[in-house]
Amino acid sequence: MPKIDHLGIAVNSLEASIPLYAALLGENPTGREEVPSEGVRVAFFGRGGGRVELLEPTGDDSPIAAFLDRRGPGLHHVCLSVADLDEAVSRAEETGATLVPPGIRSGAEGRRVAFLHPRTAGGVLIELVESER
Ligand code: ZN
Repeated sequence: MPKIDHLGIAVNSLEASIPLYAALLGENPTGREEVPSEGVRVAFFGRGGGRVELLEPTGDDSPIAAFLDRRGPGLHHVCLSVADLDEAVSRAEETGATLVPPGIRSGAEGRRVAFLHPRTAGGVLIELVESER
């Protein structure tokens, strides 16, 4: 199984950003959805592991809006696929990593996810998702 589930890229506008990735990857998005818990609308390219996820904020209070304000568009997070999310979170916490926001949540595609704070994870916002069985 691929260990990188997807790369998350923050964009100001899905509509403005999709044509570039569609041209590069030779296909239209394979999925689009709004994730209210994260304040984002997302578009996925590809299937299985190694996908590209574009994230557009749904409002000014979205974490993606804050990221765009601070850093501008660009690579936002790396999502790693793990066999057992609870166990992976425990192991990460043992190394000093903390979850942001706290706890395991429901992410895109209804999958259980957790995010490791970049300050505690080597400067990278790491999303953990349980691999599909
Ligand atoms: Zn993601």
